[in-house]
Amino acid sequence: MQRLLTDLGAIFDGEISTSSADRHAFSHDASIYELTPEAILFPRTSKDIQTLVTHVNQVKHDYPALSITPRGAGTDMSGGAIGNSLVLDMTRHFTTLQPFNGDVVHAQPGVAMRTIDAVLGTEYLIGCVPASRALCTIGGMVGNNSGGERSLQYGNAEESVRELKVVFSDGNEYIVKPLNRRELSRKIKQGDFEGELYRKVYELIESNYDSIKNARPRVRKNSMGYNLWSVWDRDTGIFDLTRLITGSQGTLGIVTDIVMQAHKKAPHNGLLVTYVDTPSKLEKIIQVVMSHNPVTFEGFDDVTFNLGIKYFKSFREQLGTKEWLKQQAMLTTQAARFRAHLPSVVLMIEFDGETISDIDSKITALKRDLARFKLKTTVEHDDSDSALFWNIRRASLSLLRNRVHDKYASPFIDDLTVQPRYIHKFLPEIRDIIRTYKLPATVAGHFGDGNFHIIPLMDIGDPKDQAKLEPVMRAIVPIIKKYGGTLAGEHNDGMVRGPWLPAMFGDDIYQLFRRTKEIFDPRYIFNPHKKTDASWDFSMEHIRKNDKI
Ligand SMILES: Cc1cc2nc3c(=O)[nH]c(=O)nc-3n(C[C@H](O)[C@H](O)[C@H](O)COP(=O)(O)OP(=O)(O)OC[C@H]3O[C@@H](n4cnc5c(N)ncnc54)[C@H](O)[C@@H]3O)c2cc1C
Repeated sequence: MQRLLTDLGAIFDGEISTSSADRHAFSHDASIYELTPEAILFPRTSKDIQTLVTHVNQVKHDYPALSITPRGAGTDMSGGAIGNSLVLDMTRHFTTLQPFNGDVVHAQPGVAMRTIDAVLGTEYLIGCVPASRALCTIGGMVGNNSGGERSLQYGNAEESVRELKVVFSDGNEYIVKPLNRRELSRKIKQGDFEGELYRKVYELIESNYDSIKNARPRVRKNSMGYNLWSVWDRDTGIFDLTRLITGSQGTLGIVTDIVMQAHKKAPHNGLLVTYVDTPSKLEKIIQVVMSHNPVTFEGFDDVTFNLGIKYFKSFREQLGTKEWLKQQAMLTTQAARFRAHLPSVVLMIEFDGETISDIDSKITALKRDLARFKLKTTVEHDDSDSALFWNIRRASLSLLRNRVHDKYASPFIDDLTVQPRYIHKFLPEIRDIIRTYKLPATVAGHFGDGNFHIIPLMDIGDPKDQAKLEPVMRAIVPIIKKYGGTLAGEHNDGMVRGPWLPAMFGDDIYQLFRRTKEIFDPRYIFNPHKKTDASWDFSMEHIRKNDKI
């Protein structure tokens, strides 16, 4: 390996690190796994990435375990951003953000979402922005087909991506964007690597058209498997390979440039915060809320609320002292209302509109329909008043991670998604499993999409707790299948759900996923042990040993 890295050093313009501090720092993402890389590479230019891919291809025969794992901020919860060979860190140099043109965001993949948020300001937004927006990169959002509070309206990243540049396994960079029939046929006729790639993917989808379309989970958001069902549409004649690259977790190629749709915000918004004391009523309440078409519909449980109250001081740096003091005062008032008894669930239901009275009438109508549940509610107008709740909701997992010291917040059933109309049947079945396996868990998520982040607190280093992972997954898969849902609405497969792809999609579709991987990456140089290359045994052998890294 040392010789290989020396050879690479001579042709690679960016930095290469093999220091034990860096290898340790890059051995984790936000998942329950750890993989220590041989080296971390910081590419300066797309040429660097092309050189690297070409070189890895050339020497793969001599170094069979050699591979490249692209990485953004490393907040992936599935183990997608770690690798035991070469990790390619995009956050050091791939950080160019083009001036915003009022329509699309054009960025290199290492640009932090918080940088984009600052540019979009209060007037625009990205539809797929995740709750980890203060930490993550746009490249990671594309890699995972991320979603978030606004996905209810705008879907996951795949629906926002307009154009990508990708370095494929032949070591060249290509523009990937939607093609019409004529453009597709021209591309296929090229007969070169790119042309063959389009031909093979087209033929694979065309000859399995109905089964692929039927395999799509029946939910608004999904990031499991390869998005084959969204690539080719016989009716529109559009062939869009961006759909396949988005959500592929760096297993099909390395994204070097991203064009993503931005959306103009409505001038006003209002948040109805609803405090639910009886979780048994939750399912019915969700049905009523959904019938009012909110723009976002999020929620978190009492454990999260309590952590937010207890550790609100940790927001001081992020908010600045003045804003922090203001929100702290609001929080004290809120908490006082409940004395010692916090509500089981806090629901955040957002409406937007052209005028404040527009929003008030939407909120009044919903409150009228919710009256029979006798819930406490508050109404927050515009961003500054609702910020307190958004801060707690968005920080729910990091609060759990950083503040609960004796247990590890372990994401493995963290992204279950079903159609909202099944929630009243689905949630009790999931609760039974959580109870049976004694998994104290927090629940937060995108309630309007039927997307639940259930994060058990475990002693993940303890074999007794580890032994719960497989039976719990085994119990949950048939429930999710029964309701036509997905194990991952937005957190993707990685090492935790990759091994469950055959169980979720059936062997025929799984084989199509495998063929897809092999069309793009016949030598398996990109991000191994994820998606179709994952195995439960490998994943279990690499459960993180140190909870607190
Ligand atoms: C507190 C917290 C809250 C979260 N909330 C959400 C949420 O609401 N919604 C959501 O979707 N996710 C959420 N996540 C998961 C994660 O933050 C997001 O998926 C995020 O978009 C990942 O971005 P990242 O920059 O950290 O990417 P990374 O974790 O570095 O990478 C993510 C994946 O993309 C691949 N990748 C990265 N860069 C490239 C590239 N240039 N080319 C090809 N592949 C690439 C990686 O290999 C990896 O498989 C959350 C995580 C945490 C810790």
